[in-house]
Amino acid sequence: MKGETITDAEFYQVYGGKGANQAVAAVRAGGNVAFVNCVGDDAYTPRMLENFKTDGLDITYVFHETGIASGYALVMIGGEGENYLSVAPGANYRLIPELIDQAMPVIKEAGIIIMQYEIPVKTIKYVFEIAEVRGVPVLWNFAPARQFDLSYVGKTSILVVNETEAEFLLGQPVGSNKVEQAAIKLLNMGAKQVIITLGKQGAFALSADEKIFVPAFNVNAVDTTSAGDVFCGSLAVALTEGKSLKESILFACAASAICVTRMGAQPSAPHRSDIDKFLLKFKKE
Ligand code: ADP
Repeated sequence: MKGETITDAEFYQVYGGKGANQAVAAVRAGGNVAFVNCVGDDAYTPRMLENFKTDGLDITYVFHETGIASGYALVMIGGEGENYLSVAPGANYRLIPELIDQAMPVIKEAGIIIMQYEIPVKTIKYVFEIAEVRGVPVLWNFAPARQFDLSYVGKTSILVVNETEAEFLLGQPVGSNKVEQAAIKLLNMGAKQVIITLGKQGAFALSADEKIFVPAFNVNAVDTTSAGDVFCGSLAVALTEGKSLKESILFACAASAICVTRMGAQPSAPHRSDIDKFLLKFKKE
């Protein structure tokens, strides 16, 4: 409530940011991953970079900005598990197209580019353009949802959105009985493949020749923060390994199901061995 002070809250600090979460999820899922972004010079940044290195992320193209903090989010979890998010983008907004040019060695080698919406609009457009020229597919996670030139949806190989983001893109509600219609509309906007994640319902995908629904795994969810990030990171890995779209979505649903059984954002992204074990267990059941 406005003006109210909660005096029995607990504080804990975990690393986050959609791009970082997705990069960590991808590297733990078995990918060979380079993270391209800007960080600031605040006190927490060195520890964050150490963690990236421990995870095996290539941070050659993480650019260091001065006089600014890295991007941070304050997450408040209410008494009934609901979360309230406040994001301070900080150095994320220093990632300008000129820095993308510097990262070209990894971009031109990439099997896929995963991009979110926590960097400047001009940079997103620039990445779409160079990816098109270089023939690198772009997995665009349109999150957090906000205004954008929708013609760029047409440059997306795989558009991944949750229901709220799909509603934002389409300007209309996406109820559980309207998911397929929503995906058709997103496909008509030019995305080659559309995936709508449906929280504990699972994920729905549509392309010109495939319609796929993968139900979520039945797990005991304790914290759904970053489920979508783990989904995107692990999906990208499976796709670059040559798995079919359906197998890749199954893999991503398994990774994100494990993630929701753990607390926090980056700490909850599972390793490949956990995902493989989880899938094996569910196949047996
Ligand atoms: P976001 O975190 O972006 O809002 P979703 O809530 O749609 O995304 O979750 C992404 C994916 O995580 C889902 O497609 C599903 O596979 C998995 N997931 C989310 N919540 C649960 C849950 N309670 N149980 C099992 N899997 C879940």
